[in-house]
Amino acid sequence: MDTLLEVKDLRIDFRTYGGEVHAVRSVNFEVRAGETLGIVGESGCGKSVTAKAIMKLLATPPATYRSGSIRFLGKDLVQMKEREMEKIRGNDVSMIFQDPMTSLNPTSRVGFQIIESLLKHQRLSRNEAHQKALEMLKLVGIPQPEKRMNQYPHEFSGGMRQRAMIAMALVCNPKLIIADEPTTALDVTIQAQILELMKDIQSKSNTAIILITHDLGVVAEMCDRVVVMYAGKVVETGSVVDIFQKPKHPYTKGLLKSVPRFDMDRNVALSPIIGSPPDLFSPPKGCSFYARCDYAMKICKEYDPELEKVGNNQTSACWLNHPMANARNNKTPQNI
Ligand code: SF4
Repeated sequence: MDTLLEVKDLRIDFRTYGGEVHAVRSVNFEVRAGETLGIVGESGCGKSVTAKAIMKLLATPPATYRSGSIRFLGKDLVQMKEREMEKIRGNDVSMIFQDPMTSLNPTSRVGFQIIESLLKHQRLSRNEAHQKALEMLKLVGIPQPEKRMNQYPHEFSGGMRQRAMIAMALVCNPKLIIADEPTTALDVTIQAQILELMKDIQSKSNTAIILITHDLGVVAEMCDRVVVMYAGKVVETGSVVDIFQKPKHPYTKGLLKSVPRFDMDRNVALSPIIGSPPDLFSPPKGCSFYARCDYAMKICKEYDPELEKVGNNQTSACWLNHPMANARNNKTPQNI
């Protein structure tokens, strides 16, 4: 599969009254055409900041792109002028947010908001744009689309607003959709419908999806590959099967142990990851997971492990998986 998006050594800081927050710290990953990539991790791990950075939706200041690149079809979005970015945003790359009520314009009719995007990015007459918007509302399963075109967002239910957002995101046939917690605010029935709808549309249009979520059930259902983030860094990547069946990083293992699964023994209690993520005003020198890790070694406190290959298509940033640490391990890793 061709690489659509490549994020390399991305670092983003935020200037605050309390100092600089190092929210994204050397993040690397790629998205291939037509695949669904899940980005998971606790709140504050940098998932949403990374997503907004790709869309160039971060206000600068307070945000600063410290280093790195975000290459979309070979072009670096970080260096791109806002005028050029406007041609890509909503057209080639679009975003579905967690709360459509704060993303849809409450003062404009839903139909108009979809038409506006079409008129901006595609050479269509107003009539053609109206027809296409209507088709899109039908495609996402909104009943009575003619009537709904003329309604305002507050007249839609939560699930319908999310469907309208998906219609807006898809109307220009983007190559990449970034969905940031798209179903978190919805009840489980609507959640299942929305996920099914996204899968269906993806299979028809070969759109790539970056799915940002803390819900591992959604990841298992939707994704081909997974990126696990912790404290602004990528700590593990792999296929969804590898991540769920043979996770390598202690944080990934902890995440999986903390949520119920159908295939787990019902008599085994869930175990949360004790403690909280480090303060990103002054991140630790060594491994960011050191304070919460059951396998921590001396080396972990001093040196931050890099992402290393641990399988065919799996990488992990942990000294336990590092060939050098294993060589020195001598069966007593705590002594390294
Ligand atoms: Fe735990 Fe050390 Fe691995 Fe970090 S590097 S996850 S502290 S074992």
